Parts: sequence; structure tokens; C-alpha cells
Amino acid sequence: MQKKDSYDTICSYCGVGCGITVNKDSRGTLSVIGNDSYPVNKGMLCSKGKNLNYVAQDTSDRILHPEMRWSRNHPLQRVNWDTALTRAASVFQSIIDKHGPDSVGFYVSGQCLTEEYYLANKLTKGFIGTNNIDTNSRLCMSSAVVGYKKTVGEDAVPIAYADIELADCFLIAGANPAWCHPILFRRLEKHKEENPKVKVIVVDPRKTQSCALADIHLQILPGTDVILFNAIARWLIERKKLDKAFIKKHTVNFEECKQSAFQLTIGQAADRCGIPPEQIRKAAKYIADAKGFISMWTMGLNQSVIGVDKNVSLLNISLLTGHIGKPGSGPFSLTGQPNAMGGREVGGMANLLAAHKDLNNPEHRKEVSDFWGGKEIQPKPGLTATEMFNALENGKLKAVWIICTNPVVSMPNAHKIEKALQNASFVIVQDISHNSETSKYADLLLPAAGWLEKEGTMTNSERRISYLPKVIDSPGEAKPDAEILWEFAQKMGYSGFNYSNASDVYDEYCLMTKGTNIDISGLSYDRLKKEGSFQWPVPHKEHKGTPRLFQDQRFHTSDSKAHFNAPQNIYNQSEETDLDFPLILNTGRVRDQWHTRTKTGKVKRLSTHIPTPYLEMNKVDAYLRGLRDGDIAIIKSRRGTVQVKVQINFDIREKVVFLPMHWGKILNNDFSRANNITNDLVDPVSKEPDFKYCAVQVSKY
Ligand code: SF4
Repeated sequence: MQKKDSYDTICSYCGVGCGITVNKDSRGTLSVIGNDSYPVNKGMLCSKGKNLNYVAQDTSDRILHPEMRWSRNHPLQRVNWDTALTRAASVFQSIIDKHGPDSVGFYVSGQCLTEEYYLANKLTKGFIGTNNIDTNSRLCMSSAVVGYKKTVGEDAVPIAYADIELADCFLIAGANPAWCHPILFRRLEKHKEENPKVKVIVVDPRKTQSCALADIHLQILPGTDVILFNAIARWLIERKKLDKAFIKKHTVNFEECKQSAFQLTIGQAADRCGIPPEQIRKAAKYIADAKGFISMWTMGLNQSVIGVDKNVSLLNISLLTGHIGKPGSGPFSLTGQPNAMGGREVGGMANLLAAHKDLNNPEHRKEVSDFWGGKEIQPKPGLTATEMFNALENGKLKAVWIICTNPVVSMPNAHKIEKALQNASFVIVQDISHNSETSKYADLLLPAAGWLEKEGTMTNSERRISYLPKVIDSPGEAKPDAEILWEFAQKMGYSGFNYSNASDVYDEYCLMTKGTNIDISGLSYDRLKKEGSFQWPVPHKEHKGTPRLFQDQRFHTSDSKAHFNAPQNIYNQSEETDLDFPLILNTGRVRDQWHTRTKTGKVKRLSTHIPTPYLEMNKVDAYLRGLRDGDIAIIKSRRGTVQVKVQINFDIREKVVFLPMHWGKILNNDFSRANNITNDLVDPVSKEPDFKYCAVQVSKY
């Protein structure tokens, strides 16, 4: 009989954070199944999770050794780790000496483990002396972060998945969880099957797969979400369907919310949103009648030039109805990436500090720099994702270190990203795969360990921290990202980086959280291994974790009240359509692909669902352009061109088209990359790009 080793870990894809059991037979062959005892997925996995063993075992694309070139005219050549990190340190140091610490930056990823994120942040803010560290989470979550901070005082998701089974009304806005958070959607589906009176409201310009569960689909015009949420708020206020006691005792700024909501009548709002007013009233009544109301949202709200306004206007609805801090109730931002939340906990963004401390607060900055024993932390926020690439393009930023992300495919206005990387003096790419198109721009390419090849922790959408064990060795000379970072810090001569394993890094971070709202000083690797996952805070060693926040109705604001916020803009501020560019482009995910396909693209069976990029278009718009299903369409914006097959239906609104975001260049053909045409306009506060709205023209090839 073959001996089997069994390891419990977490899926490396979306923020649902499903538990996976990995079995390794005596030949070292891996298989994966859903972990029955893990509370998130109870044994279920979606197609991506089920195929992770193939991704982990196929090393054909892996970067196996450090590679370096002395100039852009030279090819990359294999070097050893010592040479690679010595070069990294000497180039970074000479650039810092000549141009100052703000001339270098790190661009990291919501797929990094918490320990890696923590170290990159400590290194950048605490020792190099710049706040130039940002992450691809800027592209998906930053508007939600600002929304939560403005409303409840901190980036704190109040709710748990277990609340799904306790709620009787859901509003899903700008999200397609049926495809993008499949196991969470499966829980919702089951709950509605068992409780047919549960109401589901879906807000989306497309009739997506999630609409199969909808009692009402509000197929609004893109960019009109604030108007819709304000109209719902107005109906609730006019009908006095409010939790008055909660508003009076536990909130401030109700009048501001009311004034904003009363700017338009429900009829005017319905006209602006392009839907019948009775649909708005019906949705509002579902919410008013609910005993437990949960709102769920992702990129459709966040990736917008008014992303923060969309968030706060939706959060206002939870406050009006008092649906927060109670069983089956709360505003639930669904994380896109597996550890976007863990990254934010350790301050892995240009405007954040570790342990949810505030970069604007001089005392907090001092606490963090004293804790680390490095340089004084600078008050000025660092460059955010789009700002970082703008600064590379204009020469203000000289060197960038890119970890576990593929900006050449994932950032908006991708040609600009390519130019920025060409213009940079020095680019380090630390990744697992040669499939990342960004690796072609590297002056120094560092091979990182992948999923199952290192240990660490991640936090999912419901604040659940889980431990991921090392199961297999990395191929070639690939190393865990944390190890690469601490060895680089040692080469730079920084003290405080003498770690011997990831657990040392984790323990240091836990200590830093003591006494904060995110306190996990009671949580060790030992507990995580023995007792399983925990939802933060976990402030002492006997504490069992905190499934739901704000049950005492005291919020993390300075006055302990929840704050209503009037949106600054109720009208969209995206680039305008005109006669030349008359259609609105929306981009997003498909079911079986993940991000830029560096992992899912390796699994043939995941490409059988949707093998190639496509443009979804309404039949009327297609007819007007002489396009038939399967024809090649040319899609142009003011920034570039895409050419893909067209898929025609009545599910998408007229004058709106949709492109999946996953594909980069296919066989060097530049025309398959959606981000050739997207816009790098950002929300002025969250700095999240406006991926969901740009003006395009479409014609037949
Ligand atoms: Fe992985 Fe998300 Fe699928 Fe769960 S739902 S298996 S976390 S991709």
C-alpha cells in the first residue's frame, strides 16, 4: 500500500479562502480535495481549486535560478543568489544615495503571504525610508477600504460567512459571485433553496450567472450605482423604514445622508439608472422587510473613478436599517485575492501602516518606527499603483521591485506600463513563472517559491487567518519570498532582519498588533496548526476569535459611532462617450481563469470553458455594426486597440460591452489584451482605477 501524507492548506486563488486537503503519495504525486472540516467551504471546491495540484506539479514554466543582465542590450544570464542579491543591494543603494529613498519602490501582490507582505512593508517604510510600496490590491479593494474607514473607522469587515445562513435579504452589487466567488455563491444558493422566501437583489449592467438567483435584477446603466443606492435610501427614509434607535444612539451625520438621498426623486433616479422606478421601490421594500440584510460587492463598485462614493452610499443603507453588528446582517466587501486583507493588515499599501495604524498620525508613525528600530517613518503617502508607473515613465522613480504580480497585463492602459518599465533604470521581478509578461522587463529575475512550497498565513474575506504549510520543495533554486526579502535587507546592512523562519516574522507582527483593534497577539503558528483558523481579533491565548465585529454597536471611529457619509459625486466622472467612442466598456473575470492566467492558463481543462478572449455585446449594437456571433471585432479606445471574437446576446445592456481581463498577448499578438484600451483614471481618494468604464468604438474586422 502506498503511504500518503496529508496536509490541510488554503486555496491560492480568490478571497473566499477555501480549505484544501493535499494528499501526497509515496511517489510525491499530489492530489487535492476540499477540506470537509474547514468552516468556509465544508468540502466544496470550485473548478480552479480542484485543479491546483496540476498547477503545483507542472514546473515547466518555472523560473529556476536567479537571472541578471548588466545592461538592457544584454540577455539575462544565470547567476547565483549571492551575486543576484548583492547586485540588487548595490543598485538600490546607489540610486538611493544619488536620488533619495523616494526614487525606489516596491509593487507587491494580494497573493503574497502575510509574512512576505509584512517584511516588504518593514523594509520599505522602516528602513529604506520611503512609503513607495503599493500592491495590486489597489486595483481591487482600495475603494472598499476607504468606504469602511469613513463609515466604521477602520478597514474592518464586520461580518462572517456564517451570517449568510442567517440573513433573509441580499443585495449583490457590481459582483458576479457565481463565477468569481463560486463557493460563497454556492452557500447562498443552498440557503435560498432551503428558504425560498430569502430575497436576492442583483445590481449589474449585465445579466450574469448570479442573476439566476435574483428575485430582482436591477440592470442599471454603468456608473449610476450611487444614484440607485441614494434612491433606495430615500425610499427607506420617506417610508420611515429606518432603525431610528440605532441611528440616534450609534450614528452621526444622518442629515448629510438624507440631503444627498433627496437630491433626486425616485423617478428621476430611475431615469438616470435606466430602470423602472417600481424596481427601485421593490428592492427597497425587500431591504425594509428584512430581518437580516447583507450587501455584497466587489469590483463593479470599487473599480471606479467614484468608487469611494459608491461604497459609502451602499454602506449608508446598512446604517439606515441598523443592519450591522447583528446576526445575518452587515456590509460585506468580497475580497478578490486570497490575501488582500492580510496585506492590508500589515500595512502593505502606500498610505497604510502595519496593524491598522494610521500613516497620518505622528504617534502611530513613531510607535511603528520604534518597534522596528529603523528610520523615522515618513508622513507623506507613497506612490500608489498607477502613480508608481507614471513616476517610472517620467523618471522620478528609478527602480522598482515587482513581487508576484504581472502589471504588464493587469494594469490599466497597458502600453503605458510597458513604456514605464522600459524607461526604468532598474527592474527586479520576483515571481514563480516565466509566463508573467512582466518578467521580460527584468534586469534581475528572482525565482520565488510557489503555493505548497513555503509556509505562512493568509486572511480571507471574513477576517479568517489560516496557516499554509510547506508540502513540497521548490524546483531549482527558488526561495520563499520572505527569505529573499530578509536576505536583501541583510545585504543592505539593515538590522532587525535576522529571521530564521516565517514563524519569527509572524510572531513579530502579532506582537505589534497588541492593544489594537486587530489584535492577534493570542494567535501563534502553534494554535493555527492545532486548532485551525481564527477570525481576528484574537487578543489572548484562550480567545476563540471574533466572527462578528461591532456587536456592542461601538465602532472604531474616534467617537465610537458609525458615520453616515454623503457621496461627493452622485454622478459618474468617467471619461465620456461621444460619436467616435459611443460604447461603454466594462471588464471583468470569467469562471475558470484567474488574474493573468499564469497559473490557470497551465491547466488545459480550465481552458475548455472559455478558451479565448471575447467581446460580449448586445444584439442591437452588433446588428448596427454588421457583426454576427463569432465575427472578429475591432475594439478601440483613446488608448489602444483589441481584436477578439464577438459573443452576442441580450444579456448585456445596449451601448455596453464586456471584455474579460485575463488575457495578455497571445503568441506575441498584442490585440488580445483587454488593458490595451482601459483607462488609468483613478478615484481621487482611493486611487483605484476606473476599469469598469471607458469609452470605446467597435467595428467589424
Ligand atoms: Fe479557491 Fe475561490 Fe474556488 Fe474557493 S471559491 S476553491 S478559494 S477559487
